[in-house]
Amino acid sequence: MRAWLNGDLLTDPTQGAVAVTDHGFTVGDAVFEAVKTLGGRPFALTRHLARLERSAAGLGLPAPDLDDVRRGVEAVIEDDPIGRLRITYTAGRAPMGSGRGDGPPTLVVAYSPIAPAPDSTSVVTVPWTRNEHGATAGLKTTSYAENVIALAHAAERGGTEAIFANTAGNLCEGTGSNVFYVLDDELRTPSLDSGCLAGITRELVIEWCGAREVDAPLPDVLDRASEAFLVSTTRDVQAIARWDGRDLPAPGPVTQRCAETWAAREAETIDP
Ligand code: PMP
Repeated sequence: MRAWLNGDLLTDPTQGAVAVTDHGFTVGDAVFEAVKTLGGRPFALTRHLARLERSAAGLGLPAPDLDDVRRGVEAVIEDDPIGRLRITYTAGRAPMGSGRGDGPPTLVVAYSPIAPAPDSTSVVTVPWTRNEHGATAGLKTTSYAENVIALAHAAERGGTEAIFANTAGNLCEGTGSNVFYVLDDELRTPSLDSGCLAGITRELVIEWCGAREVDAPLPDVLDRASEAFLVSTTRDVQAIARWDGRDLPAPGPVTQRCAETWAAREAETIDP
């Protein structure tokens, strides 16, 4: 694993030094991206960098220098069939306390190979809600403690992903994924008003497979969907075989078609 820290290439990333007062570390004043790589090329990097800029602006961080990020990507990427880049951008050194960080920002780009995700999975609805009205709703901040708790809750019940409703009780997203489902013969996914992250995979599945953005009560979706799947950078299209107590076809016919479309389009468009 290699990492790029503020312009320096680290062949042993455990040796990199970040200030103990870095606001990314002390208060989670930081944003990130996880980018898939295919044979040493980053997938959809332009879209990921645009989201990094939007998330940074949402937190009031200085705009990241995207040329610098691209240099970091080039420096750390390796030639594995599938890999994952993690770009972390923090407010940097800051006075103690929860006031806004005053930098200079910290940029880390790290890379590691990954294995393809399984084709199907089980998910568990969690009792906590995503706050679609919160200040960080829809921003890709590094504050993932809530996701860590939710994922552990799901794992204790046999799931590999946790599903959140929002404060209105509508289906929102997973801890690291967006959700699609088929209801009344139509492919649907929650709208961005639900508070879900604007997932890059979600955007492309809407574009490539056609899906309607609908906000619906989670229990209705769970009762009535004929099939469902998760999407994310590291999962692509992953069928949901079991959701709480319900077994679903995995893959159902629409999920199968979307997975095939995804595989074909991803291979032909490395930076869609
Ligand atoms: N929602 C959350 C909360 C996530 O962390 C992720 C993973 N980045 C997603 C959705 C899926 O987004 P993407 O398709 O860009 O990986």
